[in-house]
Amino acid sequence: MNIHEYQAKELLRQYGAPVSDGRVVLKAEEAKSAAGELDGPVWVVKAQIHAGGRGKGRFKEAAAGEKGGVRVTRSVAEAAEEAQKMLGRTLVTHQSGPAGKTVNRVFIEDGAAIARELYLALLVDRGSSRIAFVCSTEGGMDIEEVAASTPEKILSFSVDPAAGISGFHGRRVAFALGLEGKQVKQCVDLVNRLYRLFVERDCEMLEINPLIVTEDGDLRCLDAKMGFDSNALYRQKEILALRDETEEDPKELEASKFDLNYIALDGEIGCMVNGAGLAMATMDIIKLYG
Ligand code: ADP
Ligand code: MG
Repeated sequence: MNIHEYQAKELLRQYGAPVSDGRVVLKAEEAKSAAGELDGPVWVVKAQIHAGGRGKGRFKEAAAGEKGGVRVTRSVAEAAEEAQKMLGRTLVTHQSGPAGKTVNRVFIEDGAAIARELYLALLVDRGSSRIAFVCSTEGGMDIEEVAASTPEKILSFSVDPAAGISGFHGRRVAFALGLEGKQVKQCVDLVNRLYRLFVERDCEMLEINPLIVTEDGDLRCLDAKMGFDSNALYRQKEILALRDETEEDPKELEASKFDLNYIALDGEIGCMVNGAGLAMATMDIIKLYG
């Protein structure tokens, strides 16, 4: 199960990780008062959908030169106006599929002065039964693109959950990200907090892209993507409450009410199978025989 950026940032805040102050807006008429609660002088308006690449995404029926799903504004009025423009429209990104996703919520947050954009993610590494850290100095870009064009710029290592996290891991991340001075200590602290959040909340993925160094030299989580192990949701009531069913495929959602796993795919042949492996093999055989 995935959650929105603003929800992920609230969790990060609860665990003491540095995030910008922000407000979520569900109704156009709330945009102005929400923006007014923030300090400025820059307000960033961000479409909340369960897909990345929003900044470079495009709204359907966009006006010529219209910006994507992340917009920098310089007044409360402008922030409110941009938020209102996004609500209810469909945003298409490279992760949303061609149909795009409807923007039902926007997040308005304080603008950050960015010196560097970095990448940091935690994942479950099923191969080694460990928690993997993936780090890159090339933040703000698609990590898939970095992996394809400059794989040497991605460093990863894993932590044995039985032994747990230590300062050594945080320093390793700091070194991989080219951090120096006070940032090293901040990074060790951040890595400890992210690891604790990841384990305690049964995460499958926690991606900060970008993790930034501000012009004042501090670390801050500027974007956050979080996914949780569905099999653990029974013991994660607070996380389950963050579920946004409008982001899910209606057929998969209906099936889940009956404890069925339904995977919506293209085509005309449906397969009813017992187990994921058998499902894949059956699909392959049908395809093989045309
Ligand atoms: P996505 O990955 O979906 O495009 P991000 O949250 O990563 O969305 O935003 C895209 C880019 O917009 C970031 O890499 C960053 O350069 C900029 N950005 C996002 N939030 C802020 C902010 N609060 N202040 C300044 N710039 C921001
Ligand atoms: Mg991002």
